[in-house]
Amino acid sequence: MDLKKRISQKKAEFISMFSVGLIIISLVFVLTSKVMSRSLRDAEERYTQRREETLDGYTYAIRFYLENHKTSLMSLYDENMFRTATSSEIQKWLVQNKDLVHDDFYTVFYVDTNKTGFFSNGNILGLSGRRYLLSPEEFGSSTYFVSDIIETPFCENPVFVVEIPIFDKDRKFKGTLCAAIIVDTLKKIADIIKIGSNSSVYVMDRTGKFLIHPKSEYIGKIFVPKTEKYKSITSNVTASSDSGIDETENENGIPVDLFHKKIDECGWTLGVAFPKEQRTKLYRQQNLTKALTLVISTAALLTLLLIEELVSRYFYSRHMIESIYDPLTMLWTRERFERKASDFFKKMPNDCFMLIEADIRGFKFINQNYGEEKADEIILFYSKLLDKMTKKHHGIIARGYADHFYSLMKVDKAKHAIRDFKESVEKICAEVKSFQIPFFPKFGITFLRPSEKPLVTIKDLIGQASFAKSTVKDNLLVPFSIYNSRLLDKSNQEHLIETKMESALLGSEFYVMYQPKIRLSDDKIVGAEALVRWESKDLGSLTPDTFIPIFEKNGFITKLDFYVYERVFEFIHMQLAEGKNIVPISVNMSRNHNKPEKFMHDFMKLFRKFDISPKLVQVEILERSVMDNNTLCEITDRLHEEGFTVAMDDFGSGESSLNMLTKIPVDVLKFDRDFLRLSTGSNGNLDKKSAGFIKSLINMSKELEKETIFEGVETESQRDFLRDAECDQVQGFFYSKPLDELAFVEFLEKKTAKRRK
Ligand code: C2E
Ligand code: MG
Ligand code: MG
Repeated sequence: MDLKKRISQKKAEFISMFSVGLIIISLVFVLTSKVMSRSLRDAEERYTQRREETLDGYTYAIRFYLENHKTSLMSLYDENMFRTATSSEIQKWLVQNKDLVHDDFYTVFYVDTNKTGFFSNGNILGLSGRRYLLSPEEFGSSTYFVSDIIETPFCENPVFVVEIPIFDKDRKFKGTLCAAIIVDTLKKIADIIKIGSNSSVYVMDRTGKFLIHPKSEYIGKIFVPKTEKYKSITSNVTASSDSGIDETENENGIPVDLFHKKIDECGWTLGVAFPKEQRTKLYRQQNLTKALTLVISTAALLTLLLIEELVSRYFYSRHMIESIYDPLTMLWTRERFERKASDFFKKMPNDCFMLIEADIRGFKFINQNYGEEKADEIILFYSKLLDKMTKKHHGIIARGYADHFYSLMKVDKAKHAIRDFKESVEKICAEVKSFQIPFFPKFGITFLRPSEKPLVTIKDLIGQASFAKSTVKDNLLVPFSIYNSRLLDKSNQEHLIETKMESALLGSEFYVMYQPKIRLSDDKIVGAEALVRWESKDLGSLTPDTFIPIFEKNGFITKLDFYVYERVFEFIHMQLAEGKNIVPISVNMSRNHNKPEKFMHDFMKLFRKFDISPKLVQVEILERSVMDNNTLCEITDRLHEEGFTVAMDDFGSGESSLNMLTKIPVDVLKFDRDFLRLSTGSNGNLDKKSAGFIKSLINMSKELEKETIFEGVETESQRDFLRDAECDQVQGFFYSKPLDELAFVEFLEKKTAKRRK
């Protein structure tokens, strides 16, 4: 998944997480609010209930107080006597029983239907117009009546009157027996039940005048709140309703909840005021809890989101690191490398770049044989060497997969870059040889020139380097290959060759050329090498260099070898049959014949078809053959058994040491033509150092009792040098190029005739 996709997915995850969070938080909030408002309702109910209970307590106390006073009044009422007695007689009775009067009573008096009052102190007063004196109808069914507060000139304290109706013997209303009770005595009630310092008790009469008030100056007065808001809730308004809770203020201007209730027995209103603050406290607490819940759930959600963010950031950054750095070598990943390289190309359009792809020969084999751990150690070691090389040239490096590394550096000139690179490669090769498990590096190189930008991308470049690397030869002399477009043509040609090879064999497009071998002691032709050629009707003339490596890769070479052997045996046979001259012919044996048993079986089967001596056939086995020493020895021995001689071809191009030669029973050492090519200067002479080296090689070969032959002798001075060095034979253009059958026979005849002369 690319970065953009990953980020948008991350955004989506975050948004969905946030939405879920919001829903959760809203749910928590709604639920909390519900629970809160319910608990507030409960608390409010409890609050109201408790206050109402207080109110009931006071009501009971007042009722008790009044009942008590009524009873006290009744105790003065002698029903039999009162029924018949005159008003004066009743007054007399009252005067006589003055002692029975309750302490709270200011006076007791009888009022007849003419509204004349007969007082227990002996006074007789006209009381018409007194609102408290009820008519018989007004009493109704009630047994007594309690008046509102009364201000009377006879008493310095306000009083109220309790009165009971008096009937005559005919059950006719004849008057009322009244007691004037000092209002102040009611105060006791407020003291009976203490409801905390924050609350106050009020009793108002029907007109709203106070009978009980915490401040005595309010007794007998109506209270009007001062604050505008509460002004309408005067005490007479409160007194006019049966019950309720008024939000108002008290005499000190403090907002209060006034719980009030009318007392049926007396028509008065009892009020208990509680500071409003108590209720506000409740709300405040609830709001506080609500806010706290909101804050806590929001904080919980934010913490959740934060944790989620941190966790995903952690994984994201780990992922990012993994997408940037290879965990084993800590070099960049290929993805990152490609991105950076593309940036370079854009930023430096006029510069030339060199890209190297490196890997290890047969890494798969190392992995399987030594195990992953050792293979990792090798990778790490190799990565450090490559990193050092890249850093030296201020380049960038990455590990692709397994043993594949990419290195890119800016260079001035391709020529100089290759020279520097060769130096670095030599150093790397030397270091890896001394590693605990020696391994062989392989490199593919390509260049990006300004003119090719921007048509060639970094991916194309890697493809080119990779292709170049795939063309590195199996010999270990040159471990790198430089890409050029011809290489690619070569690859196309390889494919073409593969499609044509079978039909070419059937169509006899392959033929054999013979290159003479000359004995230096007498300049005599003592042999020839059979070299295959391909005259393709589609591809034209092809030299072995173009097709043999391909046939070795796809295995077709084993078929071709036997085709050549057949042609050679046929040729020898024909020469012999015709009584013509013939010399031993050597045939090349490809490295693919690695099963001695099978090879010998097929070889002998073919050979026996022709009636020729094995002495006329020599087999050349390549030194850098994939065969191991044991296989090589086995084949050589078997060939010897059958009477053939064996030569080691291209000796010196591979890894074998002279020491090894003591164990390999070859008859001839055929020195690689590079010996002469690399030792000969432009003047055609061999340099001294090389000459000495070649001489010692020849001497050593003689010690080992091996015949010596040098390939690639092109000049007279090379020939003379080899003759002086006592080399046995030479093969090279100086004497003859490879010749077709006819030309070779001619050459043979000519040489022999020459000698005869
Ligand atoms: P080789 O077996 O080492 O053959 C010698 C090569 O050196 C031949 O190249 C020959 O033409 C070349 N040569 C000889 N003298 C000179 C010289 O003075 N100067 C130069 N520059 N070259 C010289 P050719 O024929 O192209 O064969 C190349 C290689 O192909 C052979 O190397 C051999 O390994 C392989 N090859 C050729 N024919 C066969 C074959 O029938 N079977 C197998 N398996 N390999 C073959
Ligand atoms: Mg050869
Ligand atoms: Mg050779």
